[in-house]
Amino acid sequence: MPIYVASGSDAIMVDVDGNQLIDLGSGIAVAGVGHGAPAITEAVSAQVARFTHTCFMVNPYEGYVAVCERLNALAPGDGPKKSALFNSGAEAVENAVKIARHVTGRQAVVVFDHAYHGRTNLTMALTAKTLPYRDGFGPFAPEVYRLPMSYPYRDPTGMTGEEAATRAIGQMERQVGATRVACMVIEPIQGEGGFVVPAPGFLPRLARWCRDHGALFVADEIQTGLCRTGTWFACEHEGVVPDLLTTAKALAGGFPLSAVTGRSDIMDSVHTGGIGGTYGGNPVACAAALAALRMMDDLDLVGAARQIGELMAGRLAALARNQACIGDVRGRGAMMGIELVRPGTCDPDPDLATQVVRACYEQGVVVLTCGSYGNVIRLLPPLVIEHALLAEGLDVLAECVEHSTRS
Ligand SMILES: *Cc1c(COP(=O)(O)O)cnc(C)c1O
Repeated sequence: MPIYVASGSDAIMVDVDGNQLIDLGSGIAVAGVGHGAPAITEAVSAQVARFTHTCFMVNPYEGYVAVCERLNALAPGDGPKKSALFNSGAEAVENAVKIARHVTGRQAVVVFDHAYHGRTNLTMALTAKTLPYRDGFGPFAPEVYRLPMSYPYRDPTGMTGEEAATRAIGQMERQVGATRVACMVIEPIQGEGGFVVPAPGFLPRLARWCRDHGALFVADEIQTGLCRTGTWFACEHEGVVPDLLTTAKALAGGFPLSAVTGRSDIMDSVHTGGIGGTYGGNPVACAAALAALRMMDDLDLVGAARQIGELMAGRLAALARNQACIGDVRGRGAMMGIELVRPGTCDPDPDLATQVVRACYEQGVVVLTCGSYGNVIRLLPPLVIEHALLAEGLDVLAECVEHSTRS
């Protein structure tokens, strides 16, 4: 959309013409602590004045260690954990795969339909959707295998999570072989793929298979992690403890920072210098992350995400009752979407989704589309959004859905 942003405050963005926009997208789940948070500005300014770079592998500094310690404490699982920091989400996923291959001595990586893991060469191979992410950009990395996802709205009626997992595991054992799998990489709730929440039991069954067969279970929590779904990490909703966990987006209040967090025995298996990078864990980004993580604690953004979720779920369910074009309402906490279809069918209606999003922009509300079929409207408001403002944004969305279906 041709809207150039000049400034922002909490859940409001102001464009270069002075228009105020309600941001229900957070720059794709990044601005969890809101735009222009003073705590981030202060932490970053102070760090910029001290030093902006050393390369952690050359001369370490405390901010990097502090971010890792915080992530280790937050990540599910009781045992000792370690973290390594990088710049982007894709880089974190790539490194998780490198670590998994190194520690298992195996090569195969298993991913799922509708998955999104990034745009670098390896992560393009892990990502499911051809357009716009892969088309013309091959050849892709080998030893990547794709399995059917649990997608309750589109799976056979009544299919349980266990059954969907059995379907996926059967295909994997036939295609890949149980002893060749280094890791399974999965988003506990799919982001770009359409806010797909797998049926209960799916993730625990897959994690158990990994444990039983010496493969690593890698949770890509780049979009779902850090309070977004009403828990610190989305895999906690089903008590799943991943071997490795990737974070990025909301980690550093808008600064580029990502992490791999995992069991110490796994993280320590890689030789010194085997993973790293010039800018990974940049000191300014670490200062921003420490401020963002402190805000998540101090403002109880886990609780805030739950309250936002209740408000959105109620409003979207009411809208769906009146609008036959809404096939499904789903998500968790402050990560909810509506899947738009042709009334009376499950046929995706991406044109309607595009129309609704454009209409929302014209009314000053930022929402995003996603989904393998481009027909899901997703809501990812900043977790600091005031409820009255959120309700105002949802009113606009409702009006735009009603108006777009009528026209
Ligand atoms: C955004 C995203 C990525 C890629 O992150 P980048 O910082 O854009 O490289 C990977 N996985 C998931 C689940 C994401 O949402």
